[in-house]
Amino acid sequence: METKQFRTMAEYRQDLTEDPARGIWDLIVAGGGLTGVAAAVSARRLGLRVLLIEKAGFLGGAPGTMLINPFMPYSTTVDGRRFELSRGFFSELRTMLKELGGYEDGREDIHEEYLKLALDRLVQREGIQVLFHTVLCGIEKDGETIKSVQAVTKAGVLTFSGRYFIDATGDAALAVMAGCPYHLGREDGLCQPMTLCFRIGNVDIPVFQKNRQAMQEKYRELQKEGKIRNPREDVLIFNTLVDGVLHFNTTRVVKHDPTDPFAVTEAEMIAREQMFEMYDFLKNNCPGFEHSQLLYSAGEIGARESRMSDGEYLLTETDLRDCVKFDDAVAAGNYDIDIHNPEGSGTSHYYFPAGTWYTIPYRALQPKNADNLLVAGRCISSTHEAQASYRIMPIVTTLGQAAGTAAALAAKAGTGVKQVDVRLLQDTLKENGAFIGI
Ligand SMILES: Cc1cc2nc3c(=O)[nH]c(=O)nc-3n(C[C@H](O)[C@H](O)[C@H](O)COP(=O)(O)OP(=O)(O)OC[C@H]3O[C@@H](n4cnc5c(N)ncnc54)[C@H](O)[C@@H]3O)c2cc1C
Repeated sequence: METKQFRTMAEYRQDLTEDPARGIWDLIVAGGGLTGVAAAVSARRLGLRVLLIEKAGFLGGAPGTMLINPFMPYSTTVDGRRFELSRGFFSELRTMLKELGGYEDGREDIHEEYLKLALDRLVQREGIQVLFHTVLCGIEKDGETIKSVQAVTKAGVLTFSGRYFIDATGDAALAVMAGCPYHLGREDGLCQPMTLCFRIGNVDIPVFQKNRQAMQEKYRELQKEGKIRNPREDVLIFNTLVDGVLHFNTTRVVKHDPTDPFAVTEAEMIAREQMFEMYDFLKNNCPGFEHSQLLYSAGEIGARESRMSDGEYLLTETDLRDCVKFDDAVAAGNYDIDIHNPEGSGTSHYYFPAGTWYTIPYRALQPKNADNLLVAGRCISSTHEAQASYRIMPIVTTLGQAAGTAAALAAKAGTGVKQVDVRLLQDTLKENGAFIGI
């Protein structure tokens, strides 16, 4: 494999002192989740010099940091045949993962270690500069134009200058620092619950499957008796690609603000108690778990929802239910509006009829008060209800591709991101395999 070496700290300093222009990136992407990687790769392939900063020590975001698995559904049926709505870079990602053994046709489970490896190789091959263990902590802005970002790194706080920026942090962290308007969760400020995902190994899975229904009944019985404190209405379990290992997306912490460090700390501790409660319950009550072993939990509690940009267009539940086909559509989806109750028990769903899909307009990626910034991923401009559908991994990946492509077109034209020729953006996305829904 041909790889491009990353720069050293000494080379970075040399660039800045000898030729300050070389220290200005065409594009800086904050957040190396699936959104950020899709954005970085798409922009790089269109010729930009890209810096991708990520607070973790790997790429991929939620599947690695929060142990999220599997890919939620991203297809519908048209003329009796499977019709994929998330394509382009997302299809490429599935192929890369499959080649490594981290994904199989016919099931949507992903192995996060193979994902990390696939993305490492990809960014090296493409010549994208990545910085791990680098936390965005400030910005410098001149009027509506962001000039640079500051980040806490292993070498202290460094400043990185850029011409364009993409906020792929999931929390709209860069947009908030840039003074762009945003909101948190639904109208009363509550967000979908947070969940600490975990894995249990050495499960006799055929025996568990036979007894799955009885397990759910027992769970509800003990919950009614107050012996289970987790407010979730049932036990949410997925398979994994590893023999005997099950994935649990079932802890539930409500009424904790995912952007408040005190609340998040408390949420981690509550969720950990729930994980042990769940493991005890399964081991002591459920056939198939007699010899099971608790393996590990995610390094970070999972936030389904937090801050969302209030951008040039606010995508709503009505837009989704009406399957509006926006003129400036850049992505499409039909995952159900899947709302885990922000206040306690229960999960509501609105399922889209077969053969239908909604679109996501480019304006929802454009924050107000900034002319060289795009917001992509789970924090684009939308309501709580709309976010409950497009937040899944396949769709956010397509939003990343759209943002990276738009930044590259803006750079080529020398304009702000809001002046991008939308037809050219749509054509470029289609040329690169994307389905934009119109
Ligand atoms: C509990 C839970 C269960 C879910 N289940 C599923 C599922 O089964 N299937 C599915 O498809 N989707 C699921 N989702 C949704 C999906 O995983 C996420 O919405 C999606 O992965 C978000 O992608 P993203 O790239 O926008 O954000 P993220 O994946 O969160 O990536 C953001 C990245 O930015 C980095 N970052 C954040 N702040 C900073 C900063 N200040 N400086 C530097 N880096 C920063 C983070 O470390 C992270 O890597 C689930 C989500 C949760 C929380």
